[in-house]
Amino acid sequence: MLEIAIIGGGLSGLALARNLQQRGRDFAVFEARERLGGRILSVPGDGVALDLGPAWYWPKTQPRMHRLVAALGLEAYAQHDEGTVLNLTDPDKAPQPYPTDGIHDGAQRLSGGMASLIQALAAGLPAATLHLGHALIAVIQHSDHVELHFRRGDSVELIVARRVVLTIPPRLIEEHVRFEPPLDESVRQSMRATYTWMADQAKVLVTYARPFWRAAGLAGNAFVEHEQAMLYETFDACDAAGDKAALGGFMALSPALRLSFQVGIPILVSSQLVQLFGKDADDGTQYVQDWATEAYTSSTLDQTPPSRHPAYDDPTLRRSYWDAKLYFGGTETAGYAAGYMEGALEAGERTAYMLASENSAARTLSVV
Ligand SMILES: Cc1cc2nc3c(=O)[nH]c(=O)nc-3n(C[C@H](O)[C@H](O)[C@H](O)COP(=O)(O)OP(=O)(O)OC[C@H]3O[C@@H](n4cnc5c(N)ncnc54)[C@H](O)[C@@H]3O)c2cc1C
Repeated sequence: MLEIAIIGGGLSGLALARNLQQRGRDFAVFEARERLGGRILSVPGDGVALDLGPAWYWPKTQPRMHRLVAALGLEAYAQHDEGTVLNLTDPDKAPQPYPTDGIHDGAQRLSGGMASLIQALAAGLPAATLHLGHALIAVIQHSDHVELHFRRGDSVELIVARRVVLTIPPRLIEEHVRFEPPLDESVRQSMRATYTWMADQAKVLVTYARPFWRAAGLAGNAFVEHEQAMLYETFDACDAAGDKAALGGFMALSPALRLSFQVGIPILVSSQLVQLFGKDADDGTQYVQDWATEAYTSSTLDQTPPSRHPAYDDPTLRRSYWDAKLYFGGTETAGYAAGYMEGALEAGERTAYMLASENSAARTLSVV
């Protein structure tokens, strides 16, 4: 029987898999999508990798990310912040310089995009341990194992494992996974209260023939603070050398408004960028990712975001359940940097430690 089933092939699940492999443990990863990475998604665009999910990590405060990038031999480079930052507070006026010492506070990006982290992690794992297209729908407790039900297209597949780690965002677990016996209401309440970080956001990347804003002394960073804003923040998204040009931005419209304005969005994004960076900004190719429409990222509750970064200080989901057969991982369960990629690694470390130090019912039985 499989020893440890990891559900979710995002950063947390894959980092846990790497950790278990280094400890010589038996594991397999089950991922609902037909790709690995979860919220980490980079697509090729005119020679530059475009990060439609996370783009930045901060080595000063995120030691796990720093170490992992180095251990995997990936090439990092500083987020381009040089030049004037713009602020647009009135739709009928020109943007103004925004006085600042730098916006991204030492953020690093990865050459090849953040997905190169996922590719490197996956490359280090046996291919036979990675199962795509497996959407977990039920977890059933037995005395010395758990039974896992996966939706695979039109059919349901059953897998049994001694222990399971769910690295799926907690709200998605609560909404879509059935537990037998049911989890305590307090656990379900904790899941419902745990916002899936950035799951309501939409990101736009626009590629250009050249980084014309740099030549004009602009950083590419801008804040748009009026009510008709399409993008509330923009940034430079060029490659490391600055040869392959792109701007990025986060959409200001709510998930519901994005759906109603779908057809008009490209032209409105374009005109916002022209107002900020001049007429050259009209000539780009847009790539959009709306995370609120992603069934394996965003829950119903996530369609309405909190007003600021939540505290993620409830320890309920950091404990094991069912006599150490059931664990929750994923960045939202982290005790440090929850929501961020650093948190995904912290949660992976915590679950690896707990799996090594806690005796499951299975182990107790095998000793008896
Ligand atoms: C637009 C955006 C920008 C961001 N920017 C940054 C940034 O710059 N820096 C930063 O540190 N963080 C950023 N983040 C957050 C970062 O993406 C997350 O912290 C990190 O990717 C979380 O990894 P995870 O493995 O915990 O979760 P996920 O990546 O969500 O992985 C969970 C996995 O579970 C799978 N899954 C879901 N349901 C099921 C099911 N029923 N059965 C099986 N599998 C399932 C999903 O498909 C997914 O692969 C950003 C996120 C977004 C969306």
